Amino acid sequence: MPNDGHAQGTSGSGLTISIDSIPQQAWAADGAGKITEVNQVICRDFGLTREAILERSWTAFVHPDDLGICLERWQNSIATGEEYTTEFRLLFADGNYRWHLARAVKIKSGENGDFWMGINSNIDGQKKNESIKDEFISVASHELKTPLTTIKGYNQLLMRMVKEPNAISFLERSSGQLHRLEKLIADLMDVSKINAGKMTLAKDTFDFTKMVKETIAGMQQLSSQHRIILEEKSEISFYGDQFRIEQVLQNFISNAIKYSPGEDRIIVSVETQQENIIVSVRDFGIGIEREHLNRLFDRYYRADNSATRFDGLGMGLFISADIIKRHGGSFWIESMPGKGSTFFFKLPLQPFESVAPQERTESYYRDKFITISCSKGSDTMLVDWVGHQDMHSVKHGGKLMIEYLGRNLCTKVFNDNRKVLGTWSEASDWAAETWLPQMELAGLRYFAWIFSPSAFSQLSAVKSVENDQKKAEISFFTDAKEARDWLSSR
Ligand code: ADP
Repeated sequence: MPNDGHAQGTSGSGLTISIDSIPQQAWAADGAGKITEVNQVICRDFGLTREAILERSWTAFVHPDDLGICLERWQNSIATGEEYTTEFRLLFADGNYRWHLARAVKIKSGENGDFWMGINSNIDGQKKNESIKDEFISVASHELKTPLTTIKGYNQLLMRMVKEPNAISFLERSSGQLHRLEKLIADLMDVSKINAGKMTLAKDTFDFTKMVKETIAGMQQLSSQHRIILEEKSEISFYGDQFRIEQVLQNFISNAIKYSPGEDRIIVSVETQQENIIVSVRDFGIGIEREHLNRLFDRYYRADNSATRFDGLGMGLFISADIIKRHGGSFWIESMPGKGSTFFFKLPLQPFESVAPQERTESYYRDKFITISCSKGSDTMLVDWVGHQDMHSVKHGGKLMIEYLGRNLCTKVFNDNRKVLGTWSEASDWAAETWLPQMELAGLRYFAWIFSPSAFSQLSAVKSVENDQKKAEISFFTDAKEARDWLSSR
């Protein structure tokens, strides 16, 4: 790292570039994360000299609401050497905060030690446009709601007055369409609330099974073609927002009805497992291609099979995902194109606290989610995951794997997911970015991953090792014997 006061880099052509020639905020930091250089754009934006900025910590310029996540990412990048990316608001000399996208990479420099080069691109205009769009959706949906409520009222009055059978049937149809419109507007309002971080929950203890029964009875009235069958095993009470959880269930059931035309049944099941409520809604309809499974819960995402044939805006699952996550839960899908789909969600009956180990030694660990064993003289660590997994349990188990691999000097892992039932895919980003590099640092060379039977979990597994810089050799298997043979041949 040059220390003449001007961070420089050498381009492929041998030309030396000063960071002052970069038209965006550019900075450099040493291997420990201390900022050592800032360019003229930063001095101009912050209205301070280079020396004054370096004297203060860079965190002084970051909006307090964005600081936590950006510090966490920066510290993680310093620990792992992974690229640093974050969005934050920076305080300018005029007293206003402006949104920036920060990206930094670690540069290996033999003589002077490693250092970081970073750029903060100003994305304030983009962010403002996004929020204008969100604000427009929010205002438009409120404006649409008022006349709709009035039309609905008149429609109900007419229903009571009109006796002529044809007119009654027209009014019934128009009230069906009004109901659809009402649902669309409510979804638009929810999406804008989620975007603005304003979705609030009204939590209380309620009878979960009763809620499911009532929701099914209500939904049954909307479709005479499908019989909605409830398979439920227990009486459950739950602490959460009953109205919002009902909304998730309604969304799953109405999708099941919509995407299984010509079929006659939908099966809803409610059970408790490992202190979780698991709800599933199964249909026998068009199904979903594997490549779409992971993206269905994104905003406005619609699988192309449905775009042309079925009405909808792709908001329902996005809203459902937000509601489930806010209850500490997770969701997943099993589906076969042409055969039907099962949508699951899981809600924890207890908040996830650090799980108590049932047995723990230097080379063996077991709790209700994971068993890890490293036998003496073997370079292979055996890992067995059990039941439903989510962000918390995957992080918890992943950290234990790093600890046991390093301590027992193992280089190979037999990672058995055959007893895994469903995975929250958001854990896989963490795994790819943070966990895998740390496993490699702890000594990992070969990783045999035996798939869970759940397709959603398989996708999460593949996503968990999607890291361009990975050094370990990773292979997926459906057969445990093949995995064992592969590991022993390495
Ligand atoms: P919408 O149904 O309004 O498009 P959703 O967010 O509820 O929005 O669903 C997103 C997409 O997920 C749908 O467009 C469809 O492609 C797919 N989908 C949801 N439920 C099912 C189902 N039961 N069967 C097949 N595809 C489904």
